[in-house]
Amino acid sequence: MNDRSPSIPTWASKTADSLGEGPHVVVTGISPSGNIHNLREVLVAEAVANALRDRGKEVRFIFHADTIDPLRKIAPGIPQEYERYIGHSLSHIPDPEGCHASYSEHFLVPFEESLREMEMDIEVLRSHELYESGLYTDVTRESLTHTDALRNVLQEASGRQMPEDWSPYQPRVASGGLVGNRVIQHQPEENSVVFVDDTGAEGVADYSRGEGKLSWRVELAARWKALGVTFEPFGKDHTSRGGSTDTADGMCREVFNYPIPGRYEYEWISIKGQGAMSSSKGIVLLPEDLLKIMPPNALRRLMLGRDPARALDLDLSGGFPAFMDEYRADADEPAVPFLHLVTVAQTTNGDTTAAARMLDRGGYEQATQDRDRLAQDLAHALNWSETWAPDSLKLRILTPEESREAATGLEDEQRAYLRSISERIEPDMDGDAVQDLLYSTAVGMDLKPKKAFAALYTVLLGKKSGPKAGPFVAGLPDDIRSSRLSV
Ligand SMILES: [Zn+2]
Repeated sequence: MNDRSPSIPTWASKTADSLGEGPHVVVTGISPSGNIHNLREVLVAEAVANALRDRGKEVRFIFHADTIDPLRKIAPGIPQEYERYIGHSLSHIPDPEGCHASYSEHFLVPFEESLREMEMDIEVLRSHELYESGLYTDVTRESLTHTDALRNVLQEASGRQMPEDWSPYQPRVASGGLVGNRVIQHQPEENSVVFVDDTGAEGVADYSRGEGKLSWRVELAARWKALGVTFEPFGKDHTSRGGSTDTADGMCREVFNYPIPGRYEYEWISIKGQGAMSSSKGIVLLPEDLLKIMPPNALRRLMLGRDPARALDLDLSGGFPAFMDEYRADADEPAVPFLHLVTVAQTTNGDTTAAARMLDRGGYEQATQDRDRLAQDLAHALNWSETWAPDSLKLRILTPEESREAATGLEDEQRAYLRSISERIEPDMDGDAVQDLLYSTAVGMDLKPKKAFAALYTVLLGKKSGPKAGPFVAGLPDDIRSSRLSV
């Protein structure tokens, strides 16, 4: 196993085995109405697509961005004046920051870049373009022709009476909004509907050109048929009784005559100490930020967990080093403990050459062979130390002035200890040799090791404790060692 080919987890293999011969269309759909954080859904779909490919099946893997969806509420950070766009297609609303072609592009483009960075073999389709290009024309005609049957499915699932004028189609009215309950006539031979506008005037919407959309619940089933979907994962909010998959399944049976696609129900991810991820509450981890602290396959492993059907409480602070060590061991990567990498990255400020020297001296020569990979590992470790590391793990080598200042608080015997170390340490000593020297010198001077090591951390880091002293001190450049220890 290497970084390019993650192994196929058991749950994905089992799912793939249940899906039949194919050809397969695996789809995942997300509404870009705010920061897109739902990577778990995309990764579940990817794992199943890969399991199918692994079995020699033909697979099309689609990210269906729901760009024609109406804006439902204002996401955190969006100006309040955007209230007036509620009900408008996300693809028809201006970018709140003015940097992209539309509101939906503003949130979709960074997510798309993360998928590319993860080298995901996925097609990104925008629903407004699919409607405009006519992909939804036949299923829309079919929906409008069977309006009563669709209404019945919805009524049975919800147990509530639907309005008499309910329509599966929402034309875009003159003010820009998508409006239900306005269709008064279907003209199937012209692919159009006649509707009543805000002013009471009649308008015509051509549904082969994206002049409106199917209502969300109908669109789900219609999308399966229009794209030939054979598998789609869903979060548990969709799969409850009367939920959107329930009604879409009924519509497949009663109206669209389309086999219900395979499905996988995944559970939520929460962030330790913050709660379940939610863009409306601003509790999000964006893929682009996560890729700053780990490589793509570590991110896949982190987000999927052992089984995505189980809820996951992510600990990116204290628990992250152990996660990275496990990941690197399984990925057969050079086994530098992540915390040591963090120490080295901070000590050298990410300088690859200095870091390689430090790692070599610490006995981790294997990790310095591939310099590109090392540079990336150092960048991840440094970013993690700045963003997520507990304060106790944040390190900075003191400047000579700061070090001298810190040394004034030491006892005479501690200063004598440091001087003795600086005289006896040899440039070519490795981490173990330095550790022995630090310890035996303290014992020889009848100084408690704890006090001795505290002196060392004080003049180097301005702290009473720090990373394992042997490899840390062994890795330091000679000039830093001699200047900070000669107190
Ligand atoms: Zn933008």
